[in-house]
Amino acid sequence: MSDLEIDPDEALCEPSPRPGPITELYPAREVPLGGVRGVYVERTLPQRDLPTVGAWCFLDRFGSATATEAGASPDILPHPHIGLQTVTWPLDGRIRHRDSVGSDVEIEPGQLNLMTSGRGIAHSEFGVPGAEAGHGLQLWIALPGTATGIDPHFEQHRELPRYAAPGLRATVLIGTLGGVTSPAEAYTPIVGADIALDPGTDVLLPLDRAFEHAVLVIEGTVAIDGTELGAGPLLYLGTDRAELRLSSTGGAHFALVGGEPFTEELVMWWNFVGRSHEEIVEARQAWEARDTSRFPTVVGHVADERIPAPPLPPLRLKPRKRATGCTHL
Ligand code: MN
Repeated sequence: MSDLEIDPDEALCEPSPRPGPITELYPAREVPLGGVRGVYVERTLPQRDLPTVGAWCFLDRFGSATATEAGASPDILPHPHIGLQTVTWPLDGRIRHRDSVGSDVEIEPGQLNLMTSGRGIAHSEFGVPGAEAGHGLQLWIALPGTATGIDPHFEQHRELPRYAAPGLRATVLIGTLGGVTSPAEAYTPIVGADIALDPGTDVLLPLDRAFEHAVLVIEGTVAIDGTELGAGPLLYLGTDRAELRLSSTGGAHFALVGGEPFTEELVMWWNFVGRSHEEIVEARQAWEARDTSRFPTVVGHVADERIPAPPLPPLRLKPRKRATGCTHL
């Protein structure tokens, strides 16, 4: 998946403080991915006042029943990334992933694609002919400054560990939950999990107190710390929670994301996560110049199959002081 917003915001994100155990609801916004089929995604990260949850900096739900043109398979041509990991978690259908480090794989529900851009990678994502159109989550994880220059690489995990409690089954995508650790490679203290609750469940989920967390419901309804949460918005839970009480009358399926609050400033624009305006400009120029030393050709695609970068906004980024969150230009 790609950030194909026609006019993406450029944002400077201030380091977030440790907010304590709060609850805040952030609405999803429908974002058009462009192209002829009018595909939309429901985006819940970043938010103007919530740039990151841990190192999670981007959260899209694609192909859901409520998205416009549901069922349309958003074939995404080759496009570049820097400074991040992409996490693809299908909920229905099959997706074919191809990238500039030679990967050409299909993924189905229960499996995880984790692509680490390091200094630069390009990839495409296509529906599989004859298979159901894809529905799932795509998330980005910001790499810390110490890992933004590493070699790009790709992992597919077909088996992931599970944490279970009465009425609760969690698949740990990345990081550690309840003492269960995913083999997916992480560069910051982080957690991402897919959690199912049986009808009538009332259970405590152990959390890392040093982390901040957020929940996105995929199906059903769950009561979390007094908030009844259904599909759509992101519920931000803050930090300093050793456990989370989850109860559901009719059952629920949701994603939990969390991590140590990310303290580095980020500049996010289009498909790039950087530290400065100059870094973004340089990556954009390399992509537009078809610099294959930075972004090699994606396997199975010819050089002309690519998404061009949108024009940069006319202003240079300047840091602005806000209590929390991003300054959008
Ligand atoms: Mn992408």
